[in-house]
Amino acid sequence: MHPTHIRLLQTRLAAMGLYAGAIDGLRGPLTDAAARRALSRLGHPLPKGWNIWPGYRHATAALQVMARQAGFDPGTIDGHSGLRTLEAVRALIDSTGTDRPDPPVTAHPWPTERGVPAFFGPHGRPEGPRPPLVQVPTPWTFRIAWDLSQTRRFLWAHERTAASLTRILHRIHHHYGEQRLHDLRLDIFSGDYAPRLMRGSSTKWSMHAWGIAYDFDDTENRLPWGADRARLARPEYRPFWEIWEAEGWVSLGRTRDRDWMHVQAARLD
Ligand SMILES: [Zn+2]
Repeated sequence: MHPTHIRLLQTRLAAMGLYAGAIDGLRGPLTDAAARRALSRLGHPLPKGWNIWPGYRHATAALQVMARQAGFDPGTIDGHSGLRTLEAVRALIDSTGTDRPDPPVTAHPWPTERGVPAFFGPHGRPEGPRPPLVQVPTPWTFRIAWDLSQTRRFLWAHERTAASLTRILHRIHHHYGEQRLHDLRLDIFSGDYAPRLMRGSSTKWSMHAWGIAYDFDDTENRLPWGADRARLARPEYRPFWEIWEAEGWVSLGRTRDRDWMHVQAARLD
């Protein structure tokens, strides 16, 4: 779908109180999740099985319902953007005058990967200085992936992400509770600050080298695995990811369907 259409959708979702992300015309997991909630709230009849559609169909279907409820006929509410849907959404946009230019990128709390050095400063080096790191206490006890008898009650964080990380950890803890975090293996720590290059690269530094990335449960979320194998891709982990994403953090699993263990405070270039 065209960014203009997504921007309209995001604007409507935000007005419904369902979406707190950027109005940037880019469809992502936050937009999809909000569109899904909007579909249940808008009260329009939907085809059987709609709730297990992939995210893009929820986004399209939400626009279809919004167009229909505004008096424009998108055809069947099926989550596919055929010609009638495109025309109805176009008419909806014309009627509401929301076709504005892109907002400034400052709507995002975190820089793109390319902008990380300018935003966070120099990365750490194995033998050299570290970025400004602080210990963020964790509301639940982590087990160390490579030695499960060892535990930790803090994560290293770049000082600029520490407040955000603190809020995230408390929300996750509040949502799942200690026992469920343990059962879901969300208490298995696989990495925070690490002054190293990106895996598979000889030049590009890992986001871990700035202390702005975390890995969870690497044994059940191997680097090359996609959503068909990675544990963190399962539906019970959706709230976990939505809590990170509400603060602008990026899951490589949810954006690239690899490295499901990993989350970072940097957008993809
Ligand atoms: Zn990682």
